[in-house]
Amino acid sequence: MTDQIKFLLDEEEIPRTWYNIIADLPAPPAPVMHPGTGQPVGPDDLAPLFPMASIMQEVSGERTIEIPAPVRDIYRQWRPSPLFRARRLEKALDTPARIYYKYEGVSPTGSHKPNTAIAQAFFCKEEGAKRIATETGAGQWGSSLALAGSLFGLEIEVFMVRISFDQKPYRRAFMETFGATCHASPSNLTESGRKILADNPDSTGSLGIAISEAVEVAAQRDDTKYSLGSVLNHVLLHQTVVGQEAMRQMELADDYPDVVVGCTGGGSNFAGLSFPFIGAKLRGEHDTRVVAVEPANCPSLTKGKYAYDFGDTGNLTPLVKMHTLGSSFVPPASHAGGLRYHGMAPLVSQLVELGEIAPTAYSQTECFDAGITFARAEGIVPAPEANHAVKGAITEAMRCKEEGVSRAILFNLCGHGYFDMQAYTDYNAGNLADHAYDESEVAMALAGLPSVA
Ligand SMILES: *Cc1c(COP(=O)(O)O)cnc(C)c1O
Repeated sequence: MTDQIKFLLDEEEIPRTWYNIIADLPAPPAPVMHPGTGQPVGPDDLAPLFPMASIMQEVSGERTIEIPAPVRDIYRQWRPSPLFRARRLEKALDTPARIYYKYEGVSPTGSHKPNTAIAQAFFCKEEGAKRIATETGAGQWGSSLALAGSLFGLEIEVFMVRISFDQKPYRRAFMETFGATCHASPSNLTESGRKILADNPDSTGSLGIAISEAVEVAAQRDDTKYSLGSVLNHVLLHQTVVGQEAMRQMELADDYPDVVVGCTGGGSNFAGLSFPFIGAKLRGEHDTRVVAVEPANCPSLTKGKYAYDFGDTGNLTPLVKMHTLGSSFVPPASHAGGLRYHGMAPLVSQLVELGEIAPTAYSQTECFDAGITFARAEGIVPAPEANHAVKGAITEAMRCKEEGVSRAILFNLCGHGYFDMQAYTDYNAGNLADHAYDESEVAMALAGLPSVA
């Protein structure tokens, strides 16, 4: 073992292929269903919304899928991202654990999201689209697609969840700097938005609502595609560059993670880091425990139901089988806007059902406590979402201390928090509150799940 703290790869070591975990699953994923016909959805049903390349990746069973050269070329600006050994954090925690983190905050927009934004925009451009409509929670996804749009000459229209639109004006300015248009959601620009506003003019919005608005806009115009920043198979696929690099970097560290930790909103950064390791486990090559951390007030994996549901609140999307709190559930406000989604990636959900992933949930304040400990030791202020992964990793490290064993813990520091200073302002002033979710609201949302034969 080396006493290095930084594990870097050369540009040539950026992965040449994405890793598709579907090839290693014991059973194929449950089909995506058409809500009207109750039949599986085919590629043609999705073609108005997504480029065919993304659709084919969505259903592919190939273990590896080539990363197009122009995408890889843009990745070179920040990839391979660094992997760090958190030695000062280990010392601060007085733990025998070996803590590593893969840092995705080095991307131009400060998170893992450009890994898929660049790819999706490239495929849209290749297939002749002029515009892409999308939603954004905290603004990370909107920023990343805005960046990708400016690189490929595509117009980007973003529906931003109202609460974040108000809390994070700099994210909006960032998107507009890249030439994107940004609306607070729910908006009165769409049928779905107007319907929500009629019921609740003060709606703080949610990812589910913003998705409905973006899908509606994309479905109306031939020159416009829709793009999602998480949840779908092809999005998780694009993120696997993270885990593949981390695997190589753990080799440089002469170590292998006993535990892999990530935060889960829709599941993409978590999958990006963990799927290559879970794949190695499924193939019987290595053993690793994999922990998913979600917010206690939007607990799709720990409290949701594994069932077919809509991906959006307006019920415009096909039905996917996933852990869900019900598509009409609007999670309480929190600073981890990127984790406020009623559902979970179907692939992550399936792996939880298979027992390959251990889901956990922590409150916002516990996660910020962990994030502050991390920041003071390591000098990086994590995104509020990433604080959940930090909390998960610190919990594992403290368990090592109690048990007197040294385990290697690897987590995804999926983004920095430099656009989230309002959250830290609130924390520092002692004003960060935990808003519990309303259990009766979830019960109601779950009672309204669509029935699928
Ligand atoms: C968007 C985002 C998330 C949540 O999305 P996932 O698909 O679950 O990764 C988490 N962290 C950061 C920094 C994000 O930008």
